[in-house]
Amino acid sequence: MKSVKMAGKGVVKIVEAPEPVPGPGEVVIETAMSGICGSEMHTYREEGMPGGNGGHEAVGTVVKLGECVPNLKVGQRVGASAIAGCGACPACAKGQYTWCPNNRFYGNMHAERFLAAANACHILRDDVPWDAGVLLTGDGLGVPYHTSRKIASREIKTIAIFGVGPIGLGNVLLQAHLGRRVIAVDISPTHLEHARNCGAAETVNPKDGDPVAAVKSLTGGKGADVCMECAGRQETAMACFAAVRTGGTVVFNGEQGPLPLSPSSHFIRRDITAVGSWFYHFSEFGSMLELYRNGLDVTKLISHRFPFKKAAAAYKQFASGESAKVVLVYG
Ligand SMILES: [Zn+2]
Ligand SMILES: [Zn+2]
Repeated sequence: MKSVKMAGKGVVKIVEAPEPVPGPGEVVIETAMSGICGSEMHTYREEGMPGGNGGHEAVGTVVKLGECVPNLKVGQRVGASAIAGCGACPACAKGQYTWCPNNRFYGNMHAERFLAAANACHILRDDVPWDAGVLLTGDGLGVPYHTSRKIASREIKTIAIFGVGPIGLGNVLLQAHLGRRVIAVDISPTHLEHARNCGAAETVNPKDGDPVAAVKSLTGGKGADVCMECAGRQETAMACFAAVRTGGTVVFNGEQGPLPLSPSSHFIRRDITAVGSWFYHFSEFGSMLELYRNGLDVTKLISHRFPFKKAAAAYKQFASGESAKVVLVYG
């Protein structure tokens, strides 16, 4: 079968790869669609991946079952969570695979067929097309949804989202759908346009002036109830603390290193809460599906679709920083 190989330094090839063989509790899925994730960009630009690719958001049809797979059948449409739990610990009992101390990561999903853990597959009914499915079962909507659970208070009315690439944009779409007034902050006019299409009430481009002052002036001088850091940059993280109101919450979605934060000035004296949020819980899929069925059009997050064979062009498009979600289409 054919698979994407990330050769490093921005080179992507389609190569012949061995057919995946399912072990106990595993299945092989014939890929219908896979999504490119921002988390693949470092490997793509730098060292590459000798073992294949970092694809970890994909949907398709079950074609082969390993031993001990009571929950799936050949021919079923599924979406796979890349993080599979051990199935035996208290976290797994609650469907919280990311909290399982023995969880495993499944990658290599940018391929004609891929391996997944059976207990990490979500069955997709026929009312969920592949493009919605890849967002609902991957981290495209998963991260924004998991994050939303931590800022559920009804007192939260205004949310400023710093960095509206694919993950920030997912937060825009979901938070606007939940009735929040969203202020999107990004230096890319294309990203800001996507944000408006996904429901942002206001957009701020830091190239036009101080974004903290802009968020404050849009919130009557107080600052936003929540500021979300989705760019993975020190300056946006610090801007979040400056642009959040007293008593507000800063959310970290973008991965990054240490920050110069003072317990006194950034937290204590303004009663600030900061929270991190990673991936999503397997058990959260049902709630995401319900949101979709009630009108949350997740496919708005997709800006580009490429045939699998044009994976190199797809990565190039994604790496340009001028897209929302980019997906590969198979078959
Ligand atoms: Zn991802
Ligand atoms: Zn476990």
